[in-house]
Amino acid sequence: MIAENIKRLRESIQAVCDASGRSSDEIKLIAVSKYFGIKAITEANENGITDFGENKAQELRDKYNLIGDKVTWHFIGTLQKNKVKYVVKAASLIHSVDSIDLADEINKQAVKNDKVQDILLEVKTSFEETKAGVAEEEEIFKLAEHCSTLENVKLIGLMTMAPFTDDESLIRKSFTELRKLKDKLNKQGFNLTELSMGMTSDYKIAIEEGSTMLRIGTAIFGPRDYSKDWREL
Ligand SMILES: *Cc1c(COP(=O)(O)O)cnc(C)c1O
Repeated sequence: MIAENIKRLRESIQAVCDASGRSSDEIKLIAVSKYFGIKAITEANENGITDFGENKAQELRDKYNLIGDKVTWHFIGTLQKNKVKYVVKAASLIHSVDSIDLADEINKQAVKNDKVQDILLEVKTSFEETKAGVAEEEEIFKLAEHCSTLENVKLIGLMTMAPFTDDESLIRKSFTELRKLKDKLNKQGFNLTELSMGMTSDYKIAIEEGSTMLRIGTAIFGPRDYSKDWREL
């Protein structure tokens, strides 16, 4: 089932790339494995998936302890300062940095782990109050400036979640906004290469709008069962 899902998804990504004049080599597929167990992750890995995304610090820590650096880990969820230590140990990229305090704590833990931590800034492009991320452009510039003063943090791009809506134009607008913001920052001297955008429901639009990292769960693993503990799967 997972093997077939991956095959189908890769073909679909390729088709959108072909239609929009992009190379699929520029797009990293991150399998969002939250709520899924080691068996599912292993099966995806055996079918060519190298990158996995988790949205809870302890879940990432525990899965990292079981699987380790055999795969590449991404942290994509809301991050509390007291849990940064687990995430920095495991994650090659943290997608969800949204405050100076958080960036400082990541830097501190990165120093302890003797690594330079790649990060993305999470931008709230959807104007939905419930969504995480920084909304004001001025704030984003400030945060980006601040990150460039941190020795063990490297800012490489931006992340967003599109609004939950059937209105395709709103989803597209959200992705376009993120791309424009990246271009603007780069004009100011930053060197951002990554746009983390696109999930199961909206990855085609994200590819068309320049995504370099897709975060896809359901289309790979099937629906999540929130009543189950991943350790029992
Ligand atoms: C769960 C999650 C995803 C994947 O969602 P699907 O709809 O299952 O593809 C992507 N990004 C973030 C931040 C998530 O929390």
